[in-house]
Amino acid sequence: MSAAAQARRLRDPADLDITVLEQGRDVSYSACGIPYWVGGLVAGRDELIARTPAEFAAQDITVHTGTRAVGIDLAGGVVVAEDGRRFGYDSLVIGTGGRPTRPPSPGLDAPGVFGVHRLDDGAAIRAAIDAGTGPAGRPMRGLVLGGGYIGLEMAEALQARGLEVTVVLADPLPMQLLDADMAARVCGALREMGIAVHTDQAVREVLLDVDGRACGVRTDGGSYDADLVVLGLGMGPEVALAADAGLALGSTGAIDVDRSQRCRDHPEVFAAGDCAQTFHRVSGGVAHVPLGTHANKQGRVAGSVLAGRPARFAGILGTAVTKVGGLEIGRTGLCTTQAEQAGFAYRADTIEATTRAGYHPDAEDVAVKVITEQGSGQLLGAQIVGGQGAAKRIDVLATAIWAGMTAEDLAGSDLSYAPPFSPVHDPVTVAARVVSRTGQG
Ligand SMILES: Cc1cc2nc3c(=O)[nH]c(=O)nc-3n(C[C@H](O)[C@H](O)[C@H](O)COP(=O)(O)OP(=O)(O)OC[C@H]3O[C@@H](n4cnc5c(N)ncnc54)[C@H](O)[C@@H]3O)c2cc1C
Repeated sequence: MSAAAQARRLRDPADLDITVLEQGRDVSYSACGIPYWVGGLVAGRDELIARTPAEFAAQDITVHTGTRAVGIDLAGGVVVAEDGRRFGYDSLVIGTGGRPTRPPSPGLDAPGVFGVHRLDDGAAIRAAIDAGTGPAGRPMRGLVLGGGYIGLEMAEALQARGLEVTVVLADPLPMQLLDADMAARVCGALREMGIAVHTDQAVREVLLDVDGRACGVRTDGGSYDADLVVLGLGMGPEVALAADAGLALGSTGAIDVDRSQRCRDHPEVFAAGDCAQTFHRVSGGVAHVPLGTHANKQGRVAGSVLAGRPARFAGILGTAVTKVGGLEIGRTGLCTTQAEQAGFAYRADTIEATTRAGYHPDAEDVAVKVITEQGSGQLLGAQIVGGQGAAKRIDVLATAIWAGMTAEDLAGSDLSYAPPFSPVHDPVTVAARVVSRTGQG
């Protein structure tokens, strides 16, 4: 929809017909809001819809909902829908999104097991909570498989709805894209909230009751009862349509595109969002990081280019924020594992500080970790975990990395201060200074 809206901004309806095929009933919806809707913070489904098909129609963008594309004839310039309709095109944008990761474990399709991808998934989980009860005398038990940000946001949402919550993950710690020392803080926070976390356990099967409904999971470390199982096992690219048509995939498995979001062998075809491969600004390597921030920008680039205005996607840092309970989490750029994989000689420094002036009653602990290139002091990545006000500080670090700054540049930069917002030396500045003090950068 970002591509469609941008193309319409640049070209009149008399000049460009825009048609969108959507298999579901919603367009322009916030999957990101699903955990907050399930948790009861957001009142209704409609609040998660930014624009309806009717609103797009008013902009002369024709949206066919309930219309699944099942084939692309690249030579003929035609998309074929499941109901047999054929839609001709001069330019095509593929934005099929992501495909949730599902291990081949028995029972994952059973009633009582829920994905978290589309609004209908959110509605189904809400309905199950509203209808469900736990065994007599105890609350419902919710089990989340996976410790990524979606799994953790869902764990908090289920707890907010009164469920007893268990998170089971295959990795040693939640939040794979944090370093272990920072992820351990997240794990600790979950446990302090009363959420049971079982690590290093891959799921083997979903256990079913006599009615064939999920009643627990068995992992390679144990068995856990559950009245409701939520899957948060990660997201790959949804590329079946593109691959079947013969479009090239990149080494990440996502659709291979250039910086204009064009498919290299078919410049009349664009791909953007979770289905498309991109590149990392720091490592320079290819990347697939399914985030709405990237998807929207890439869609806008595709829409510009197909409408005739040159544009280039500038790459990603994988900047992301989330929270569990009162603990805010932010990350950007390379974590230490990624820095190592990218061949950097790096150092990592972590500082402990407070989110506001230490004497302010609302000051909370915050840890800032910066990863820099040894010698040059070039910022490669950063992670922040702490109380209220911690997470969005990552944007300062993301901007510094984006601009190619060194730790010393950042340590000397003019960041704001007043006691309700930060200590006189902001934690971000303090972390950068630790690196520059050693003569690096
Ligand atoms: C629970 C959750 C929380 C999230 N939170 C955040 C967050 O806080 N921050 C962030 O940056 N990102 C977040 N994301 C990720 C973000 O939602 C995605 O990166 C973003 O939606 C990707 O946009 P997209 O347009 O590529 O794909 P999608 O939004 O998935 O849209 C693709 C659309 O294509 C349709 N489609 C697929 N195949 C076909 C077909 N063959 N025919 C017709 N239609 C088809 C699908 O029905 C879908 O509507 C979250 C995701 C989830 C699930």
